[in-house]
Amino acid sequence: MIEINGVTKYYGNFAVLKNCSTSVAKGEVVVVCGPSGSGKSTLIKCVNALEPISEGSIKVDGIEVNDPKTNLPELRTLVGMVFQNFELFPHLRIVENIMLAQRIVLGRNESAAQKTAMALLDRVGLADHAHKFPSQLSGGQQQRVAIARALAMNPKAMLFDEPTSALDPEMISEVLDVMTSLAAEGMTMMIVTHEMGFARKVATRVVFIDQGEIVEDRPTEEFFNNR
Ligand code: ADP
Ligand code: ADP
Repeated sequence: MIEINGVTKYYGNFAVLKNCSTSVAKGEVVVVCGPSGSGKSTLIKCVNALEPISEGSIKVDGIEVNDPKTNLPELRTLVGMVFQNFELFPHLRIVENIMLAQRIVLGRNESAAQKTAMALLDRVGLADHAHKFPSQLSGGQQQRVAIARALAMNPKAMLFDEPTSALDPEMISEVLDVMTSLAAEGMTMMIVTHEMGFARKVATRVVFIDQGEIVEDRPTEEFFNNR
């Protein structure tokens, strides 16, 4: 589903990613870990073209991400992304946050978009909060909304960039639980996280990056057996 091949990326003269190759097959859950500043966030941002690459190739469902002909809004419906800081639209109600891209990008009509939004809110346990604004929700609730918003596009894969790092400790598990249930349903996922308990339980593979290089890429059990 996601093929990363010989990817190098520079910021000026600084190589943030060096000849990185890995892949995420359909239904796989790959956790990307490594020290702060090693390039984890940059790597997954390259997958949905939030960052351009300098060399190499990234394909999502067979589509070359860096081909100038690639339709980026369409690519981003294929791979949903969830950020550390939720990135909800503060002036829109929760249900409207989940409806917006469905309306604009998928061209769904109002009632179809609303129906999908409400079903997803129900699924992440937030149906009662549909008409609130993001600021009225806790961080953990906002992150569950962000996941629902990405799922509303019917993505074939999901990217997560430290989805629990900005949360108070007591809210971490409510977000990890939603991600665990997505994994159980067979969602293809690439997740940057420091939550090693979650990785051990849910990941199929673990990729370890250090200073822009993928230094380990192993099945989860093997990765943890070596530690
Ligand atoms: P991680 O997610 O592993 O913490 P990042 O991918 O965020 O690492 O960043 C990797 C390195 O690239 C860091 O040294 C960071 O300072 C640098 N970096 C990130 N974004 C930029 C940018 N836009 N311009 C220059 N350097 C950047
Ligand atoms: P993250 O790891 O989630 O990307 P960061 O705090 O590393 O968060 O980066 C926040 C923003 O600042 C990103 O857009 C990143 O590209 C940019 N950034 C990070 N490091 C640098 C840097 N050394 N020079 C310029 N921009 C940077």
